[in-house]
Amino acid sequence: MCGIVGYIGKEKNALNILINGLKALEYRGYDSAGIAYFNKNKIITIKEKGKIEKLEKIIDYSIESNIGIAHTRWATCGDATKINAHPHSCGKITIVHNGIIENYDELKEQLQKDNYKLISETDSEIIAVLLNKYYEEYNDIIKAIIKTKQIIKGSYAIAILCADINDKIYAIRKDSPLIVAKNENASFIASDVPAILNYTNKYTILEENEIAILSNKDISFFNNELQPIKKKMLTFKGNSIDAQKGHFKHFMLKEIFEEKDIIEKIIKKYNTIEKLEKKLGFLTKYDNITIIGCGSAYHVGLIAKYLLEEYANIPVNIEIASEFRYKNNFLNKKSLAIFISQSGETADTLASLREVKKDKIDTLGIVNVQESSIAREADKVIYTEAGPEIAVATTKAFIAQLVIMNLITIYMGNKKGKIKIEDLNEILTNFDNLKKQIENILNNSYKEIAKKIYQAQNIFFLGRNIDYGIAMEGSLKLKEISYIHSEAYPAGELKHGTISLIEKNMPVISIVTKEHIFDKTISNIKETKARGSFNIVISNKTVNDCDINILVPNINPILQPILVTIILQLISYETANLKGCDIDKPRNLAKSVTVE
Ligand code: GLU
Repeated sequence: MCGIVGYIGKEKNALNILINGLKALEYRGYDSAGIAYFNKNKIITIKEKGKIEKLEKIIDYSIESNIGIAHTRWATCGDATKINAHPHSCGKITIVHNGIIENYDELKEQLQKDNYKLISETDSEIIAVLLNKYYEEYNDIIKAIIKTKQIIKGSYAIAILCADINDKIYAIRKDSPLIVAKNENASFIASDVPAILNYTNKYTILEENEIAILSNKDISFFNNELQPIKKKMLTFKGNSIDAQKGHFKHFMLKEIFEEKDIIEKIIKKYNTIEKLEKKLGFLTKYDNITIIGCGSAYHVGLIAKYLLEEYANIPVNIEIASEFRYKNNFLNKKSLAIFISQSGETADTLASLREVKKDKIDTLGIVNVQESSIAREADKVIYTEAGPEIAVATTKAFIAQLVIMNLITIYMGNKKGKIKIEDLNEILTNFDNLKKQIENILNNSYKEIAKKIYQAQNIFFLGRNIDYGIAMEGSLKLKEISYIHSEAYPAGELKHGTISLIEKNMPVISIVTKEHIFDKTISNIKETKARGSFNIVISNKTVNDCDINILVPNINPILQPILVTIILQLISYETANLKGCDIDKPRNLAKSVTVE
């Protein structure tokens, strides 16, 4: 998610180019930033926690340099601190790294045994240490790079400076993006095209197992056997917004496709009981929870209520912020009030937080935007770290909020003796299965389903229990972006009045994943079918009595809402796309609702 920029050229304004490049990559999300550049044959490193603007305050743009590398970090290993920010150096080597070194623990242990001192908590520093170790051994930077590549496992895009070589930048990558670009006077590397568009639109993608060597005249590419590789330069046609969207037609679709990586990053941060203990230990002192939010954030609360009550045995009250702020609340010293907001600025949620704080009730903010008002004012904050969300209708931030609530459920469930440690470990470490299932969902096409519903005037979403919470979010997503009126209903409630709205061929989208009430929901679906509805059923078991049955893979029920939500997001997207709606900027809606 983070950003890498590298520049080597005839002009001596490297600092400017690097910072502008980082700013163009801000959409990828980050928590700290840094640069390293050559000045009078010495590598100088400057880094800061927080926004690029903070870094800029300590940069002297009058310093001349024609070569440097820069980084925005999205912490995966070690907290978001200045010391953990990139670049990282060891001896003659300075690097920036994007990705995760998976055999970090093992490598760290070995290096420490060999008396290497590590300064940061990052996996990335290991790369600098290894490169330096082998550079000292071989006195050849390329040999050191090849050797280091053989040792590190995981994902990486890495840019390297060597103090002995002030006219080259070296770059390698595996499973993390990196492009290499050129104009007459300079060469560039970057995580993505927007970073270089001010200077050139000629670029190529660095492939796995290739090494790029950049100078101000040219870029050469080699394979691991040091044979030169010829690469064709591509021409980027389009503006910076197109570049940010990549090959996706809309930001919303791009953001849905980012969800898999976001889930992985979040789960990896909490994937042992020790990490859960450290980050969520404070939760055990409460005996009741109230979750407050608006729109999709409220729906996360609704799903979390069912999860926490079932798997952690703790009563959860959910509140719509605009209602909550103007009524009596009955929170007490054993209550935790959780405020969920993507922007951290949602006016009603923020006002509710302030109300609760007046009563000295403990508060927790779950927000996406760092240093936002809710993040600053709540007693505790958990960042969802989904990166900036550009589409107005939330997708990836919703999923990230849901994952945080899943983790809270798993942790509290374990503390309450309802989830065994083996099950907790299985959920937290068996991410590969979840990832595979998400990939399968993303590879499916939902266009045929969209064709069946896009002309409807009204649609019902049905579900019971957790499935009802998911139905609420599915219905909202469809309304927001396709402008089709829809209602989400607890399946058993329909017959108490609303079933009168069912007409012939009216689409009814039902979610049926909870084993203990499976048959009950199926009966409700049949009741609508008997009145002529067109039934789409999303279930983890085959359902025959419907028009379309979308099978969702069976995974741990705590994680199941993630998969169903992604399917519903894609159905909404395809439906709105078919209708030709302005998907990323739906009419009348704003991304951050800062009015009450
Ligand atoms: N794993 C590295 C770290 O935590 C790099 C993270 C990133 O991609 O920004 O520092």
